[in-house]
Amino acid sequence: MIATGSFLAAAALILLLAPLVLTAGRWQVRHPRTALALWFSALFAGIGCAVASAVTALMCCVEVGEVHGTVEGLLLTIAGWLSLGVLAAVIALVSATAEPLADSWREAVGRFAPVAVSREHSDGVTLVWFGSDEPVACAVPSGEPEIFLSTALKEMLSGPQLRAVIEHERAHLRQHHGWAVRIAEINALCLPKRFPAGRALKRATLLLIELIADDAAARRAGAVHLANALATMGRTTADPGLELRADRLTLRRWKKPRSQRGAALARA
Ligand SMILES: [Zn+2]
Repeated sequence: MIATGSFLAAAALILLLAPLVLTAGRWQVRHPRTALALWFSALFAGIGCAVASAVTALMCCVEVGEVHGTVEGLLLTIAGWLSLGVLAAVIALVSATAEPLADSWREAVGRFAPVAVSREHSDGVTLVWFGSDEPVACAVPSGEPEIFLSTALKEMLSGPQLRAVIEHERAHLRQHHGWAVRIAEINALCLPKRFPAGRALKRATLLLIELIADDAAARRAGAVHLANALATMGRTTADPGLELRADRLTLRRWKKPRSQRGAALARA
């Protein structure tokens, strides 16, 4: 019983303290990969403690049953297994109902695919251009990954800026960010609304994956090109988030992008 209570208390502590600790200060913006890893470590530690408390409670029921005779023991054992079954059923139900939410990219495919004007293959990804006046880029993870790009991007960005935007979307696909968002959304649905941890993890995940993809694209295609692309898109869409991300990129020191380093070596 002591073990059950300890695991339950640890799960509750993680639930309450993780959002407080992980949102303190501004270090997450400088180290988004570390921040995302810590958020998900806290999530899995919390789930581990909750499962451990259920398992120890079940073992306790079996032990008490053995001491108190067969009928009572049988009832307690059944009750223990039923509680674990109910937990599994809730998780399965929430996962199933969360699917349309987590798969927000399905909605993107539904909207953009019918207005696609051309497709081209590029490094294992299909670039799908669709007609739109809005600057939109969106990665769709699937068996055959696609990056949807609006024709407005081609008109408003230079070649290097466009490449930086494509590298940003490529980073989402390469690092499986779709899964992180999906897990965060399921977690937010599982937790009662009065606990901020669920919404905080989802909000943090949505922001941190953008910063992580920005950093990856800046390293591959040049921070200045991505910053200029984000600033242009931010001005056009009046989205302050894009301009803040552009500012963040300009405030950091960057090594030369890999492509330019390769060219310099080739010239040497
Ligand atoms: Zn993104």
